[in-house]
Amino acid sequence: MAKQTLSVELISIPDDIIRTIYTACKTCYSAKLPYENYLNAPDNEKMLSLIEKVISSGHYSTIEHIQLTFAIQNVSRACTHQLVRHRHMSFSQKSQRYVREKGEFDYIVPKSIEKNPELNKKFTDFMTKTSELYQEFIDNGILAEDARAILPNAAASSLTASLNLRELIHLANLRLCTRAQYEIRCLVKAMVDEVIKKEPWLKPYLVPKCERLGYCDEDKTCGRTKTKAEFLGNVCCAN
Ligand SMILES: Cc1cc2nc3c(=O)[nH]c(=O)nc-3n(C[C@H](O)[C@H](O)[C@H](O)COP(=O)(O)OP(=O)(O)OC[C@H]3O[C@@H](n4cnc5c(N)ncnc54)[C@H](O)[C@@H]3O)c2cc1C
Repeated sequence: MAKQTLSVELISIPDDIIRTIYTACKTCYSAKLPYENYLNAPDNEKMLSLIEKVISSGHYSTIEHIQLTFAIQNVSRACTHQLVRHRHMSFSQKSQRYVREKGEFDYIVPKSIEKNPELNKKFTDFMTKTSELYQEFIDNGILAEDARAILPNAAASSLTASLNLRELIHLANLRLCTRAQYEIRCLVKAMVDEVIKKEPWLKPYLVPKCERLGYCDEDKTCGRTKTKAEFLGNVCCAN
């Protein structure tokens, strides 16, 4: 049995993101044909100036043309369960039916448990017992698809996940928020860091939602920005 650590690789990203989004934007506002706009694209600075205006005006279909794929390794099933709630993403996940855990299964230890030696020991002992029980079921002819019923939320999983740039921004806005669970926050941070390494101009968009809204719309705020009420000055729209 082995404790595992998250790793994320960006395995596919288009070569010319800025020019593709620029072409999509110009298609909407220019009398020229899309390919003419593509061939006559100006320098990056001019393209980005138009792109930034279009994105800030909420014209998000223009960034849906950019598709990204990540190899996500060693996240808990608890974390993947949250990730797959994002309906505009595509997933291929390691199967607990076809891949039988061999003797020891890999698992993820939540940071808060790892920091507490006594509870960490209890957690590890529980994983060991669960692993032995899983193996007993397999040895007695129970199919992996049924034996997996006893595997915990901590069981490690891996995915290939794809999404377009609009959905990545949405994912970052929701899951980089401190209200999101720690593991998915780390996962999404690793995803956006990979993208920002290649496309630094995207940094201002790949942030928690409060940074884009200018306020926090959560009930329990972390205090990083003003609450919505403070931001709006408690003004009631009905008056
Ligand atoms: C801090 C936090 C706590 C959460 N707690 C819970 C919880 O306790 N229980 C729980 O069940 N879930 C919980 N969730 C999950 C949450 O409810 C969403 O399912 C998840 O965040 C996906 O968000 P989404 O629907 O905006 O995104 P996506 O599925 O990625 O969709 C992106 C956007 O597309 C649009 N869209 C997609 N599908 C539809 C549709 N069918 N109809 C109309 N518009 C659509 C919406 O505008 C949506 O925002 C939590 C999420 C967070 C971030």
